[in-house]
Amino acid sequence: MENISMIIGGKPVAAATTFPVINPATGSTFATAAAGDASHVDAAVAAAQAAFPEWSSTPDAERQRLLHAIGASLEANMPALMELVTKETGKPLNGLNGVGAGMEVGGSIAWTHVTADLSLPVEVIQDNEVARVEVHRKPLGVVGSITPWNWPLMIAVWHVIPALRAGNTVVIKPSEMTPVATARFVEIANGILPPGVLNLVTGAPGSDVGPTMARHPGIAKIVFTGSTRTGRKIMENASGNLKRLTLELGGNDAGIVLADVDPKAVAAKLFGVAFHNNGQTCASLKRLYVHESIYEELCAELAKLAKATVVGDGLNHDTQLGPVQNKAQLAIVEELAADALAHGARFLSGGHVRAGSGYFYEPTVVADITDGIRLVDEEPFGPILPVIKYSDIDDVIRRANDNPSGLGGSIWSNDLAKAARLALRLECGTAWVNEHGAIQPDAPFGGVKQSGIGVEFGRYGLEEYTSIQTLKIMKA
Ligand code: NAD
Repeated sequence: MENISMIIGGKPVAAATTFPVINPATGSTFATAAAGDASHVDAAVAAAQAAFPEWSSTPDAERQRLLHAIGASLEANMPALMELVTKETGKPLNGLNGVGAGMEVGGSIAWTHVTADLSLPVEVIQDNEVARVEVHRKPLGVVGSITPWNWPLMIAVWHVIPALRAGNTVVIKPSEMTPVATARFVEIANGILPPGVLNLVTGAPGSDVGPTMARHPGIAKIVFTGSTRTGRKIMENASGNLKRLTLELGGNDAGIVLADVDPKAVAAKLFGVAFHNNGQTCASLKRLYVHESIYEELCAELAKLAKATVVGDGLNHDTQLGPVQNKAQLAIVEELAADALAHGARFLSGGHVRAGSGYFYEPTVVADITDGIRLVDEEPFGPILPVIKYSDIDDVIRRANDNPSGLGGSIWSNDLAKAARLALRLECGTAWVNEHGAIQPDAPFGGVKQSGIGVEFGRYGLEEYTSIQTLKIMKA
């Protein structure tokens, strides 16, 4: 059994007690992790503060070399990391449309290399006989990273690598549900980085590790990915020293299919972007609005795909969807399904927890449902998709926008110009045409409204790990 230690100042650190990590495909413990507390946060912040002066003044090229070395080491450890990701998240090694542990580890490697290559050159605003004005980007200090359970390794990389690239040092706290692959990543990175540059503190369910980080006066910024509810608490706790915040929060993304689309041609893609990783992706398609003229046909195609999906233990190579990651999330899916049924919705597939061990839920397509019902209004974060009929495009754009979330949205049509115009009317951080949830390491990604604050990736994301210093040199 894996036993996860914390890593503080480059050294493994145990705690007085441990907590179990469950494999959701079996419901059994497959690892234990150190139950850290506020004293470990203090020690990790002190280690990160001690490492900051040297790391922040390390030449850019050297920092880039070390980050590329981390990317190479992740690649060398890819099969083992994939197995850990599958065991702790339940996501298949391969997965529906290739969205699985292989993508998570492969994405982590790609993001590491692309981010390592980014730079933030000095910007010259004015340079004349009177004065020279330059804008410099400086690291903030210690960054605290708090991550969720759905893409634990990739999100850890999304937080840690740009923070380090910009010259900050880091304390990371993974989700209590999925600390294992992150611990391995931090261990790998610590074989390359100077001690204290990247520290890991693990906390048991309900521990005070996350809140202590959010309140900690020695932490300059929190980068958080997780639920909107927790994001609000972090924002409150972070106010003491006016921490900088990047908050990547929940989504309830709408997709709108226009009447000109051929249901047979588009169904598999729509099914994939709604159901891969069991719908447990922040920017999965979670509300599908379909024009009335193609509604029944598209619903039938989606149901056919749902029934043909191979659900099982992600360690089997042909599994497309694994279990829901945890019991509590499974209960939310069941609750929203029961509520939809009570409101007269028509279940075209699934709708059941699978008997036996593990947290398996049949892929579920729900028709004859509309806004105002919880399954549409709330983020189910599971393998269940409400399909909603519409007739008027202005009305459906209004309905798509009538939600507190604003992470992503999509328009599906063969008329690309029209679709692009409609996509720009969606209130969300990323709008896709004939795609949903596709992200890349050089394009900014983030939420508007209650889906978050700030962006990640590329130059815009990197800038969030810096503060601006303006330098004005008078010449006359
Ligand atoms: P969560 O908010 O329950 O937990 C996330 C992390 O916050 C965990 O590490 C947890 O221990 C920690 N935490 C809990 N309470 C805390 C507190 N008071 N202070 C500080 N830290 C605290 O989220 P989850 O259930 O792990 O993740 C699922 C959610 O994450 C979904 O809503 C999903 O949409 C969202 N998400 C968003 C993005 C994005 O990029 N926008 C990406 C992935 C997931």
